[in-house]
Amino acid sequence: MTLSIDCRPPSTPDLTSYDILAPQVSGGKDSTVMMAVFMEAARAAGVSDRVISYHASLGVLEWPPVTCKGVRYPGVSELAALQSAAFGVPADRHREVTRTMPGPDGTRMPHSLLTEIAAYGRFPRMGSPYCRKSAKEGVVSSAWTPVVNRLKRELGRPVRILKVMGLRSDEGPDRRKRAAFRTVQANSARVVDEWLPVKDWSTDAVKEWHTDAPVPYCWTYDSVPGAGDWAGTSRCSCSLCVFASRRDVLLSVGRRPRLANLYAEVEQVRGDSFRADWRITDLIRHAAICGAPDPGVVCPDDGEEFTVLEEQVRAALAVEPRKEPDMARRTRRSPCGGCAAPL
Ligand code: SF4
Repeated sequence: MTLSIDCRPPSTPDLTSYDILAPQVSGGKDSTVMMAVFMEAARAAGVSDRVISYHASLGVLEWPPVTCKGVRYPGVSELAALQSAAFGVPADRHREVTRTMPGPDGTRMPHSLLTEIAAYGRFPRMGSPYCRKSAKEGVVSSAWTPVVNRLKRELGRPVRILKVMGLRSDEGPDRRKRAAFRTVQANSARVVDEWLPVKDWSTDAVKEWHTDAPVPYCWTYDSVPGAGDWAGTSRCSCSLCVFASRRDVLLSVGRRPRLANLYAEVEQVRGDSFRADWRITDLIRHAAICGAPDPGVVCPDDGEEFTVLEEQVRAALAVEPRKEPDMARRTRRSPCGGCAAPL
């Protein structure tokens, strides 16, 4: 796919100065554009062989594959691998990583973000978005360690890594303030720079670009999988994101009712609310009484992985939280705009 001049990144770092070029593919719509822009720059600089792509998987919490009217639509982790492959990264240089914990027989098993929230006792907040570090950035950074250890010995200097992400200014004030290029870590083992090559792309430009993209975008962006109307959720990562809009969460509650109930269980046991201004417990009730956007598709969440998640979360809830819950203040903004029933 050829990129229009307007959409090229304003300033490209010297890609030849890095030992590892590490795009972080989320499986969302912005990641595909980021991979297109970044890989074009990597090829132009003659360093595409230094690319290793990473997907920090959120496991059962991210949007799963669904089958609708006989057509299967891939889930988020699968899309991340497709995004990487579509722009020339060989399969053995795409890494799916996830946070783990000790399993019953000494092996490691996935440790989901919801389990971490249950154990910690508080949901992430704007001022403390620990989920991003705990479930994504920290996991990818740990995955670099074996490569860094090997390369540092060979090179005799800190390993230079360029982390490339698909964050955009349009996504919110915190993203707008973030520099398109900055150094995020520097020590005797590694120097990590961060580059946001599509920071200035508008949401409309991203959607337009997807009309002839070589990879499908996630089904959750549509009202019904395959509709092509961008009338589903506006974001795609955790199915239930604490920073999502109320409409997105209502839609997600309808699409993943069993998962929403598990979040509500954490909320009720810990006494902290999903968001500072409303509880998911109230939103589920609101959806049942007043109605909610048509989910278009409902995920059964009836597999082994979901059962393991439920067991993990309930085990975490059975012990004292690491932090006392910060009882979120209820604001005058009710989650129910017109419902007469008390919330
Ligand atoms: S999608 Fe939302 S809840 Fe999930 S890790 Fe990202 S910011 Fe946190």
